[in-house]
Amino acid sequence: MINTVNKKEVKKTLNNNLLYEYPIVETFHSVQGEGFFAGVNAFFIRLAGCDVFCPWCDQKETWSMKKYPLYTVEKIVREVEQINTNTIIITGGEPLLHDLNPLTIELKKTGKNIHLETSGAHPFSGVFDWVTFSPKPYKIPHETIYNNASELKVVVAEEKDFMWALSEGEKVSSHTIKYLQPEWNSPHTQELIFNYIKDNPSWRLSLQTHKYLGVR
Ligand code: SF4
Repeated sequence: MINTVNKKEVKKTLNNNLLYEYPIVETFHSVQGEGFFAGVNAFFIRLAGCDVFCPWCDQKETWSMKKYPLYTVEKIVREVEQINTNTIIITGGEPLLHDLNPLTIELKKTGKNIHLETSGAHPFSGVFDWVTFSPKPYKIPHETIYNNASELKVVVAEEKDFMWALSEGEKVSSHTIKYLQPEWNSPHTQELIFNYIKDNPSWRLSLQTHKYLGVR
């Protein structure tokens, strides 16, 4: 007969995914502020680590993984199960620095929708309902992202970023929704984007509504 402790050990042995660990910057319950799902109640899991190094990054504290605690998948899933939301968003940092299969396979079992926010700079991994691909010219995206992108969101900080948006827009599938988003500290780009979209109707405007509201 297996006692309670041994039962737990057997369960863990049978499901190694639950033992897999990720460095976590923070988890928080909020509202998605950007892109197709703007306005949706969502729980965010922010993974540590990024090697893209965008000069205007507003998450520079996430770049190093070293200072953050490691959470097991089991701990993350337990937290997710307590949250009143249907949408889980894995963000960073650059989440694809990690193998996202163990985490997303287990999160899918909660019945919630799993989203990813990525620059696509590393090979694609994981099981997702929605993938937000936000490529950055500072590290060229890996080829595996293009067929997996549900939406393409290009941040525009200056005029030359339109060329980058155009070249990435040609690589995604015809089903990918394409957004241009002004960089928060470059308000002059809002007018540039507005005029660009009038001339290029295959693109849409995305705004960081959470920043206007002053929330996370
Ligand atoms: S990819 Fe994202 S987290 Fe990484 S440097 Fe760029 S904006 Fe920051």
